[in-house]
Amino acid sequence: MIGLDDSSLFHEACLIGGVWSTASTGKVLDVTTPETQARLGSVPMLDRTEVAGAVAAAHDRFSTWSRTTAQDRAELLRAWYELILENARDLGRILSAEQGKPWAEGIGEINYAASFIRWFSEEARRLYGDVIPSNSVNRRFLVLKQPIGVVALITPWNFPAAMITRKAGAALAAGCTAVIKPASATPYTALALADLGQRAGIPAGVLNVVTGSARVIGDELTENVLVRKLSFTGSTEVGRQLLAKCSQTVKNVSMELGGNAPFIIFDDANLDDAVQGVMASKFRNAGQTCVCANRIFVHDAIYDTFAAMLSKAVAELRVGPTFAEGSEIGPLIDAAAVDKVREHIDDALKKGATVLTGGGLHELGGTYFKPTVLANVTVDCAVMNEETFGPLAPLIRFGHEDDVIAMANATEYGLASYVYTNDLNRSWRMAEALECGIVGINEGATSTELGPFGGFKQSGLGREGSKFGVDDYLEVKFVNIGNVR
Ligand code: NAP
Repeated sequence: MIGLDDSSLFHEACLIGGVWSTASTGKVLDVTTPETQARLGSVPMLDRTEVAGAVAAAHDRFSTWSRTTAQDRAELLRAWYELILENARDLGRILSAEQGKPWAEGIGEINYAASFIRWFSEEARRLYGDVIPSNSVNRRFLVLKQPIGVVALITPWNFPAAMITRKAGAALAAGCTAVIKPASATPYTALALADLGQRAGIPAGVLNVVTGSARVIGDELTENVLVRKLSFTGSTEVGRQLLAKCSQTVKNVSMELGGNAPFIIFDDANLDDAVQGVMASKFRNAGQTCVCANRIFVHDAIYDTFAAMLSKAVAELRVGPTFAEGSEIGPLIDAAAVDKVREHIDDALKKGATVLTGGGLHELGGTYFKPTVLANVTVDCAVMNEETFGPLAPLIRFGHEDDVIAMANATEYGLASYVYTNDLNRSWRMAEALECGIVGINEGATSTELGPFGGFKQSGLGREGSKFGVDDYLEVKFVNIGNVR
């Protein structure tokens, strides 16, 4: 159905200790495609003992994997990266079929996902420790960096490949072994990536993938003492629950959670660039990204001009089936996602906003939603306080820099923000004043394997990608050598 060149990449089984495994009960979870709601297949519904088996497999392998040389790990990661690129067409088809994003965007995500494996294959060889000048003539001080151990990686459906490689690349480079739990809506990309990892020569048990009930798997991964770290990407609500559960065994945690990004356009900005920036930030993946512009603040002096320019560009976006040539906006993940966009639109309209373009379901039906721009949105609207996670761009007026900073920071989230201005001094002031982990200045697409990704406040803990991303998988050990004569 998906049309793969290599159909052996499509697995309806989990990978545990190098063996493709089903549930002993025979229970499965069905997976459907957002494009037509048709069934793509199923994956095993593992029970808790089977999840513990995956943790045990990762733990058994840790003692040898953690002692491989950095050079060996780097070469295995490089081989995995090359296989991902060689199979990008098939991976993109699997990803788009289960996630819904247009196929060109699916392949784009595979290339982006691969970039993390390449980056961490390079970083693997640069995990230096330190030598600290001693305070005594007969003592020597060293700092070693060592892998944390078995790590659990729980990932969301909106980026089925990149959210896995951003974690697994760093974990494996550091010398950790991993148990991955992909989102139930998008397990096949994870399983195909793990298959390619095996083909690249990554030893059995280093990369394990489990599927099934989130609660059952989550309980095992958070309570099992052999798991030394949990890295989670998903909603702030689930992140809070997992943090609480990890406290019982004092696990190391990384959290990549929700966002509510402000996108601020000053009256001195290049408006063509700002429109392009909003299109890239807001409408990629039909607005289902954690860093997407959720609140668009436009200076009063250019508000009407900008609103007209943006509405024109948004109205021209091509909504279409996932695999149709030229589609730019695919279906939303499910009916609940459509309901949330609708609720935010209805709430804003009740509070005085107006629809400039879009506003409802697309003629294609299903979960296709028209890209929407709302004008005259006010700070009391739900869209100002919650992630919409859909193709809805609300425009809010502002007059003064201090006011817009206060409005932008008035949220529990702090992941990304965007500022369009041609005033150099203002761009510095804004970059420093915004309470968030990522700032795009005259740039709407900020994500890259080269830069640290992560949030302030309730958007998360830790950083992924860049030279910082691997630190989250390393313990720091102080070695104090005494009586040196
Ligand atoms: P979600 O509902 O929090 O789910 C994320 C993952 O957690 C899925 O694998 C899910 O499994 C699992 N999960 C749910 N409940 C669990 C539990 N009780 N115990 C253990 N695991 C559990 O989030 P989502 O709807 O998939 O993704 C959208 C959210 O992710 C948005 O808030 C978005 O902002 C955020 N996100 C953040 C980043 C970032 O880097 N900061 C990146 C992408 C997305 P099931 O699928 O089986 O339910």
